[in-house]
Amino acid sequence: MNYYSTNRSVSNVGLEEAVVKGLAEDRGLFMPERIERLPQSFFDTIESLSFQEMAGRVAEAFFGEDVDAAALRQIVDDTLSFDVPLVAVSDGIYALELYHGPTLAFKDVGGRFMSRLLSYFIRRQGTHEVNVLVATSGDTGSAVANGFLGVEGIHVYVLYPKGLVSPIQECQFTTLGQNITAIEVEGTFDDCQRLVKTAFLDAELNARMKLTSANSINVARFLPQSFYYFYAYAQLKRMAPQQAEHMVVCVPSGNFGNITAGLFARRMGLPVKRFIAANNRNDVFFEYLQTGEYRPRPSVPTIANAMDVGDPSNFARILDLYGHSHAAIAADISGARYTDEQIADTVRTCYEATGYLLDPHGACGYRALTELLQPGEAGVFLETAHPAKFKDTVERIVGSPVAVPQKLQEFMRGTKQSVPLTNDFDALKALLLAK
Ligand SMILES: *Cc1c(COP(=O)(O)O)cnc(C)c1O
Repeated sequence: MNYYSTNRSVSNVGLEEAVVKGLAEDRGLFMPERIERLPQSFFDTIESLSFQEMAGRVAEAFFGEDVDAAALRQIVDDTLSFDVPLVAVSDGIYALELYHGPTLAFKDVGGRFMSRLLSYFIRRQGTHEVNVLVATSGDTGSAVANGFLGVEGIHVYVLYPKGLVSPIQECQFTTLGQNITAIEVEGTFDDCQRLVKTAFLDAELNARMKLTSANSINVARFLPQSFYYFYAYAQLKRMAPQQAEHMVVCVPSGNFGNITAGLFARRMGLPVKRFIAANNRNDVFFEYLQTGEYRPRPSVPTIANAMDVGDPSNFARILDLYGHSHAAIAADISGARYTDEQIADTVRTCYEATGYLLDPHGACGYRALTELLQPGEAGVFLETAHPAKFKDTVERIVGSPVAVPQKLQEFMRGTKQSVPLTNDFDALKALLLAK
């Protein structure tokens, strides 16, 4: 299947090129030319399929023309090596727990899928080593590094700002070794991002080595996120069959990749009644829904920091999907926005009333459902990360210790290995070329 750019000056781009490039030449985001509608029979019997089986069917609709069937099945099975359970939290409200993967956040799904797809392309072409450069302020680095860990033919360089990521985040990409190199930059996240962008533009570097990015706007990271919306529906059908046809999905949103994958699932026929986008104080999308005007602005820091985005990159995909109609978008998606105080209050009261411990991002989703769900509707919110990833914040809110899952403890036991670097591009270039 071919891809076109949301800016519409680029089209007929194949999957492999779209994945390797990440962003189109006209700076737009790639969109698949078609979104296949799955047959009613698939939805009628979906609850009898395993997560891997239903994901395989969805993957085939997007990637089936470009990836050999057995290889695609293997990629899907490897990606979904962990469960995504739907858990009842309170009356008619369910959490879709996306945090049972290696780094305890939903970005594992896209990270794992993209690494395996890229590795498939490398093997098919007989290309030599591909180098993935990624700048991170915390969570992206760990999902990408762990997704690519041990994948043949790929070396990953994670650039992160010294002293500016949390110790838990840092150990998730500095203790891996193998094909992962962590680079500790003397500077800010913006410096890391600038270094990566400069590397992609450097002629000599690109002549000597194959470079690619694992940015979150990549179609290979974003499309696989549609898998778990189908699985949420299938599980709800099993748990409460009469509620499944009235499913409202609420997505804690930052760059809006996750919710866009849900909108794609709905276009494929998944019966989602409507969506709610939950924001923190970074509320440009909320304001767009109210006013029809999109006014990006610098982000402000909050306790749900993975949603601190002032100009969500996937907004372009949502506009494109709805033919730029504000009315059509507002008919399918409603918004909510919460202050840090409201988020903290939600984590505390939900814990006290139900015993369920939310993370600050999931808390925005849960709260929006408690406020916006109509009688007869069932609400599913995406629990995008494990509360232990935000241990200090969550412990301060609930006033009791948060248990750290085994997986996270193992990262923390590992030995930190990183290469120190100044924020000067020549130093990065020398390091890459010396390899
Ligand atoms: C990345 C992230 C989000 C935001 O997801 P988008 O796809 O950018 O909207 C929400 N919660 C957590 C924990 C995240 O890591």
